[in-house]
Amino acid sequence: MITLDAIKEAREAIRSFVIKTPILSYGLEDADNQIFLKAEHLQKTNSFKIRGATNKLLKEVQNGAMHAVTASSGNHGQAVAYNAFQLGIKATIVTPTNVVLPKLQAIQKFNGKIELCGTTSEERIAHAQSLTLEKGTVFVHPYDDWDIIAGQGTIGLEVLDQVSGLDAVYVPIGGGGLISGIAAAIKESNPRIKVIGAEPELANDTFLSLQQGTRRSIGETTTIADGLRTSIPGEKTFPIVQKYVDEVILVSENQIQDAFTWSLTKMKQLIEPSSAVAVAAALRHPKRKEKVLAVVSGGNVDPQSISQYLNLRQIQF
Ligand SMILES: *Cc1c(COP(=O)(O)O)cnc(C)c1O
Repeated sequence: MITLDAIKEAREAIRSFVIKTPILSYGLEDADNQIFLKAEHLQKTNSFKIRGATNKLLKEVQNGAMHAVTASSGNHGQAVAYNAFQLGIKATIVTPTNVVLPKLQAIQKFNGKIELCGTTSEERIAHAQSLTLEKGTVFVHPYDDWDIIAGQGTIGLEVLDQVSGLDAVYVPIGGGGLISGIAAAIKESNPRIKVIGAEPELANDTFLSLQQGTRRSIGETTTIADGLRTSIPGEKTFPIVQKYVDEVILVSENQIQDAFTWSLTKMKQLIEPSSAVAVAAALRHPKRKEKVLAVVSGGNVDPQSISQYLNLRQIQF
């Protein structure tokens, strides 16, 4: 299990490598709720993934690792490539065959070697693990690893420092590394704050797994939230989600587009559809004049896709 101490240690370890990202706020005094965004799209490499990757690789390099291998839909691969480049070790990134171009280019920018493999996370992870038989090579799991979970949890500690009197925190769920770290940090510090997960209806593996009390796998999915296409919750992350997360909300593809459009037009922020999932859920928080925060997990968007994500019809908020 993850502990608050492990997350606090991670915060010290990665402090000089990551940005304490700002909080953006929205909502006039008479608004239904006050909405806060934790701006991890403004993090180095434009996603939170660098937090876990830094925490993990710092330890592995100390133990003699010279080559990092991972499987990723993009942002985690980019973070590992960036970290490996900075720490002076090699990186190999296994990505899905349908990975978006800017994510590929970002990995290559940091000299990461790319191997394309399949479309499900299970296929990719198995292939990446098979590459790590070589000595000095370490597999960096995108979510199911205690050091990764602790690194992502540092967002929870920062949010507690940055916004007083929070009522609810909404977090997008892929494999569950992000939400399990954040939920542990927040619930072990202040159990009164609700931690609510958000998943696309089209990638509802954690929702189904919670309902059935055991990890359930879904097939290939086409949600525009490409960072949340993981087919099954992690072995390590799922029990943490079961223990700490109050609820998981499902969001339709239209609602993701609405939240993407809201972020761009009202907040002036270009965020990933994966992050728009959490924003969409937060914008639907019951009207209680509460302080509600959404974790904006990343901002890596292919400019060519923006028009496809925008909803130019009347937005509902
Ligand atoms: C990886 C990722 C997520 C999901 O994180 P998990 O730890 O897999 O649950 C959400 N948003 C973005 C932008 C991501 O890159």
